[in-house]
Amino acid sequence: MSYPPAWEIGEGEVQLSEIQIAERIKELGVAITRDYAGRKPHLICVLNGAFLFMADLCRQIHLPITVDFLAVSSYGMDTKTSGEVKLVKDLSLPLHDRDVILVEDIVDTGLTMTYLLHYLSGRNPATLEVAALLSKPSRRKVEVPVKYLGFTIPDAYVYGYGLDREYFDRNIPFISSVKSH
Ligand code: 5GP
Repeated sequence: MSYPPAWEIGEGEVQLSEIQIAERIKELGVAITRDYAGRKPHLICVLNGAFLFMADLCRQIHLPITVDFLAVSSYGMDTKTSGEVKLVKDLSLPLHDRDVILVEDIVDTGLTMTYLLHYLSGRNPATLEVAALLSKPSRRKVEVPVKYLGFTIPDAYVYGYGLDREYFDRNIPFISSVKSH
């Protein structure tokens, strides 16, 4: 039997289809292309969750860009935030004088983003902005500036399109949420 026999539509309240995701990312690409006209933005993908968002977003930006990747420790098997952020893969390229866009899958409490923005600012980029596919504002512990936001969602655990559910399901092409009780 192949995995999966067919993608099952989830049961939770958050459902974002492939088409909805693609259309929104196209809009974000248009905005970034307009805002950065004449410049060469440097996109930094936060692994693992943002890998598909990064791949699709960068192809909707019609400018010369460079890319880099970093990884922070994730939830793993735990679906609740620990508040602890650990850099597990560092950048390969310098940021000095670059127009940096940090590409993140989801802003939940904001602790990861706060840590990363502080870390990246210390490397003296010319500008630093955030592109996040999803945001759960009701869960925020610290405010973070997200200039390019895909979707605001309620407090639900989401998976698919790069986001995991107990390590799996990152390859589901749409976003769904775990049914809340
Ligand atoms: P924060 O530090 O903002 O609380 O959490 C950010 C990180 O937690 C995200 O980059 C993501 O890896 C993980 N995360 C937060 N909410 C969810 C969720 O609903 N689903 C999944 N798969 N990961 C999440």
